Amino acid sequence: MSDCIFCNIVAGNIPANKVFEDDDFLAFHDIAPKADTHLLVIPKQHIVNLDDLTAEHAGLMGKLMLTLPKIASQQGLSGYRTITNTGAEGGQEVFHMHFHILGGSALPGF
Ligand code: 5GP
Ligand code: ZN
Repeated sequence: MSDCIFCNIVAGNIPANKVFEDDDFLAFHDIAPKADTHLLVIPKQHIVNLDDLTAEHAGLMGKLMLTLPKIASQQGLSGYRTITNTGAEGGQEVFHMHFHILGGSALPGF
C-alpha cells in the first residue's frame, strides 16, 4: 500500500521513533502524544482495522495480544490503556490497523 503512512513507516520511507520490532509487528511513538507515553503498535501487514479481519488472522491477532503487554513492560509502564479505533465513526484517522498504548501517568477512568 504505497499511499499508506504506516506501510511507509514499515518500509522505512517515513521515519518513526521505533521502540519495538519483530517479524510481524512494529511499535513507535505517536507523533502527537495524548499521554506521557503514547505508542502505536501495528501489524507490518496492511490490515485496515478490526472489520478487515478474517479467521486467517486469528494467530497473528493472538500474537498481538501477547506483544502489547511485552512492549508496555519494556517501556516501564505498570498500567496502561490500549485502544484501537475502527472506521471513521470510531475515530480512525489512519486506515492501517494500530493499537494505541497510553500510559506513563494516571489516566482518567473511562
Ligand atoms: P487513529 O485516530 O487512526 O486511531 O490514530 C492515528 C494516530 O496516528 C494519531 O494518534 C496520530 O497522531 C498518529 N499519526 C498520524 N500520522 C503519523 C505519523 O506519520 N507518524 C506517527 N508516529 N504517528 C502518526
Ligand atoms: Zn498500510
